[in-house]
Formats: sequence, C-alpha cells, structure tokens
Amino acid sequence: MQQFNPEQALFNARREFGEHGGVTPSLARSSTFTVMDPASMPEIFTGTKGPEQNGCYLYSRHFNPTNTILARYLAAMEGTESAQATASGMSAIACTLLQLCRQGDHIVAGDTIYGGTHALLREMLPDMGIGTTFVAPTDLAAFKRSITPHTKVIYVETMANPTLVIADLPKLADLAHENGIKLVVDNTFTPVLVSPVQLGADVVVYSLTKYISGASDMIAGAICAEKEFIYALKDLHTGRAMLLGPTMDPRAAFDLIQRLPHLPIRIREHSRRAMVMATHLERLGVAVTYPGLASHPQHDLFTAILNQGYGYGGMLTVDGKTQRQAENFMQILQNDEKFGFVAVSLGYHDTLMSCSGSSTSSEIAPEDQSAMGLSPGLVRLSIGYTGALEERILQMERAVQSAGLVESTPKLS
Ligand code: PLP
Repeated sequence: MQQFNPEQALFNARREFGEHGGVTPSLARSSTFTVMDPASMPEIFTGTKGPEQNGCYLYSRHFNPTNTILARYLAAMEGTESAQATASGMSAIACTLLQLCRQGDHIVAGDTIYGGTHALLREMLPDMGIGTTFVAPTDLAAFKRSITPHTKVIYVETMANPTLVIADLPKLADLAHENGIKLVVDNTFTPVLVSPVQLGADVVVYSLTKYISGASDMIAGAICAEKEFIYALKDLHTGRAMLLGPTMDPRAAFDLIQRLPHLPIRIREHSRRAMVMATHLERLGVAVTYPGLASHPQHDLFTAILNQGYGYGGMLTVDGKTQRQAENFMQILQNDEKFGFVAVSLGYHDTLMSCSGSSTSSEIAPEDQSAMGLSPGLVRLSIGYTGALEERILQMERAVQSAGLVESTPKLS
C-alpha cells in the first residue's frame, strides 16, 4: 500500500485563487453576507442551500469563505473528508468531546495529556455528568479494562505532552471500533509527522497555535473528521461549534493558509536539529528523552507509524530532577547563552522551553504527575531552527555542564 503523503495531499487540494486571480485566496472578513434572492433565505438558514449547495454564505459563525479554505487544506493534509477551524486548540477539544458525549457518558483518556485538557476532563466535564478514566497511554490492557457500556470516546495525544510518550494509534483505533466508540487524537506535537486518521482514528484535533502557525502570534485550533461529524458540529440546533461559538477569526485563517505550504519544510528542520541535539546530549550523559533516539521506549512504534521523510519531530525533554535545577538550567540557556526563550508553547522558529510540572501541566495534581512519570525537574524544549546548529550545540553543551546536568560518563562512540 502506498504511504500517505501529507505534503503531496496538501499540494493536491483544490487551489483557491483570490479575487482578480490573486495567488493567495482573498480574505473575507464580513461577518454577514448579502442574500440576493430574499426568497432563498429560509433554505440558506436551515443549511439546505449553503455555499456548498450553490447557495450563498450567510453568517460567519456558521460558514466563512476564508475559514472554509483553511479547513479544506487541513482536511487534505489529514486525509479527512472535512474539517472545522476553531478559535483555539481547547475549543476544538471541548467541542469535539461535548459533541460525542452526553450526560452519563464516559471517556477513557491517556493520563499524559496537556494540562488544560486534563482539567477539562477531570474538573469540568464531570459537572456535566461526563466521567473520565485516565490510563497510561501505552497500557492497552488498561484502556480495554476501562471501557464500560457508557464509554463513547478513547482520547489520546499522539505524542504526549510533556513526556513524549507515543500512543499506539492503530491498536487503540481497533479497540475503539471493536467497542463501537470513537478514537479522538490530539496531534498538536506531530502535524505532518503522523496522520492519525490514516491509522484508524475517527477525529483529529489540533492546537494550530503551535507548529501549524509556527510564529507564536495567534491562538487557533481545528477539528478534522468525516463530513457527517463536521456538519453535526455546525448544526443550528445542536452543533457544539455553532452554539458555543468558538469561531476562528478569518484573519487568523488567512495567515494560517500562508503558512501551511512551508509546514513540512519547517517540521523537517525542527526534526533534523532536535535529532542532532538529542544525540549529542545523550552522548554527554544527560537525561534526555527524544523519540528519535533508540533509547526512547516507543522508538520502534513511532518509527512504524510515522510518515517517512519528516524525521522524529522537534520536541525533546531534559530531566533536571528538581524544579530548582530545571529553573537554573533554563536561566543559563536563556540569559547566559541566549539559547531560546523560557516560554510555554511550542513550534516557534526559535527554541521555547518550560518546566512542565510547574507550568503547562500544573493543573495536574502532584501525585498524578508522578504516576504519569512527570519529574518536577522535567524541562520540555521545542527545538527551533534559527542560528548555526554548531553554535547551538556548543551553547547547550556549556549550559548542561554549568547546570550540573551531565550525570554519567560521556559515551564515546
Ligand atoms: N493540545 C496540546 C497538546 C497543547 O499543548 C495545547 C496547548 O498547549 C492545547 C491542546 C491547547 O491549545 P490552545 O492553547 O491553542 O487552546
């Protein structure tokens, strides 16, 4: 079977010209649209004569031309029938789960997920009568054991934030479908690298804020799935995306459309540099985790589910063991070495780093952090692609040495 190629699929998507033949699609900022034939308003309003049925646009919370183009490109990249652009990654996740689950329903989720998603599942959804059982993302038996007659969704991140554990998407998809439930995958850390729907997932959610934007200048999200689900999200009476209203600003969609073509190039360079950096850190005897290293526990699984040609991604972690050590390491990297920024988020052209336990995973209770193998000194780095790589390696080498993170005798290979 020919491997799915997200880069080619994106290129193959129907090209949208701008007004006057512009090489970029035009930006349609109107919130509302003129209905030239007033008699068609009822049909347009009920969605039976929308822009896809030779009708016209009506109101931008429902359909907006620029958002629709972005959604079409994202769907092409994922190999899904359709997609929905949202105002943030969190709204993509919340709308998806609220569309799939009702009061009394249940979710089985990986226990290693972004702190905001963890809070949504653990703190907020129970108030609406939706419960979640958390299990280790690698423990298939635990996923199986946790499914009840009320379970509607298995939820995981392809590469878990922040520990970089890899989920076995094909096996989880089989398990979900054997039980008549949906596999929802957050692919924020691995766009282009992994295509979850091609591996059996039903819905892919994204924080576009990260790699897909690449410029750390916007908050945005997306949901990619089959048409029926995306239409359900926009239903006038019950659609969570329609009624909760997390609409993407078309200006953000326009910017994202310009960035998608170079996403694969950026991912390759993030990956190339992260691989060199991780290999060097491991040789120095630093406690580094990177899915491209043979020492990563799911290295073989990740290799098997990757789209070829994009490397292993731009994320790595260094375990400073204590929060103090982690802070000292980051302070040296940022302020002495000028190696990136201490900032949450990821996917920027420069390196971003944060101590996850006390920042983006701080919504997760210390005992749960420890159960998921999250050390209080774990520094998550999103490796950028600016500057000369040789110089970056020297900066990193000096930083790990001055922070006392070189634990074992360097491996001489
Ligand atoms: N999913 C993952 C894996 C994330 O890391 C984040 C944010 O850090 C989100 C979702 C939420 O995205 P947003 O901040 O765009 O709402």
